[in-house]
Amino acid sequence: MKKIAIFPGDGIGPEIVDAARMVLDAVDQAAGLNLQCTDGLVGGAALDAADDPLPEASLQLAMAADAVILGAVGGPRWDGLPPAKRPEQGLLRLRKNLDLFANLRPAQIFPQLLSASPLRPELVRDVDILVVRELTGDIYFGQPRAAELVDGKRRAYNTMVYDEDEIRRIAHVAFKAAQGRRKQLCSVDKANVLETTRLWREVVTELAAEYPDVQLTHMYVDNAAMQLIRAPAQFDVLLTGNMFGDILSDEASQLTGSIGMLPSASLGEGRGMYEPIHGSAPDIAGQDKANPLATILSVAMMLRHSLGNEAWAQRVEKAVQKVLDEGLRTADIAAAGEAVVGTRAMGHAVVKALQL
Ligand code: NAD
Repeated sequence: MKKIAIFPGDGIGPEIVDAARMVLDAVDQAAGLNLQCTDGLVGGAALDAADDPLPEASLQLAMAADAVILGAVGGPRWDGLPPAKRPEQGLLRLRKNLDLFANLRPAQIFPQLLSASPLRPELVRDVDILVVRELTGDIYFGQPRAAELVDGKRRAYNTMVYDEDEIRRIAHVAFKAAQGRRKQLCSVDKANVLETTRLWREVVTELAAEYPDVQLTHMYVDNAAMQLIRAPAQFDVLLTGNMFGDILSDEASQLTGSIGMLPSASLGEGRGMYEPIHGSAPDIAGQDKANPLATILSVAMMLRHSLGNEAWAQRVEKAVQKVLDEGLRTADIAAAGEAVVGTRAMGHAVVKALQL
């Protein structure tokens, strides 16, 4: 038996999670996974109920789970609250408390949606990138950090810091991911300028001996940003620190042109958290308009990474391809004049496409 904590969150969160839950329930029954799913509150929903974006009960639920599924958090109703009471704090505290140090974001082109990319089809046709981003270190967490007044002048600083253990554990994740893909790993740094990333390059290079089947290359972050636009299909797995990955993973996701299609996994030593990369889309919340496919694909990532069930992960991914082949489109991925389906109908269609 595996325990799954489900946090629908705010805005479109409950709708997309319900559609993903249909798929998960169907897989659970057909594959005999014996999942025990429990819902919890996070974000604005938790603020409304308990005046805390991550109440203790939610944290305990997540800590006791084998995997966490999250919809999205946030919305204009909570925008005026002080920083510690913002919905996003619930998400950040969840990631930190679960020590989710590895963020995996696949950016894959769905051939059926090629025209949605802002780049020319011939540039993006073969794009299938996995960004592996370190999530709990780097300049976002380094000490010292401060904003201060010195001799009447404002100044501020942050510290970019990594130790070799932090680099090693994320690099292992990336090497292993590359082994399961096209066996090419590109590590991103700024080793020509920054000591931190010189250490990064050193440690990653040392590890390469343990993965002789993976071809390791290094690229400066400025060049990587350019290459992602110039020739994105050259990349298989991209390994980055926290800040470079923050920027490059957003850039990579946009190659596909469809925010409603992209899943993510955040992994720690024990459990993982799975969520679409988009936010709570308050503009379409409660209207059965949201695209649930990113959340459904996040369930596939959970099957792969937390439940060790590659076969069913692929079946879910194939079912998503099938509904796209059949021409089903939510509004965000429909071309002008194309018929659209709602969130629930898309969820049902994926369940049907699983052909159980
Ligand atoms: P957003 O991703 O919520 O929405 C951006 C645009 O994309 C909107 O037009 C929205 O309608 C559309 N969109 C997003 N997901 C969609 C889907 N599944 N199907 C169809 N259309 C979709 O970003 P935003 O508008 O900048 O932020 C809205 C709220 O979400 C804010 O409160 C923000 O803080 C929060 N947010 C949360 C997360 C998260 O929970 N991980 C991430 C980003 C933003």
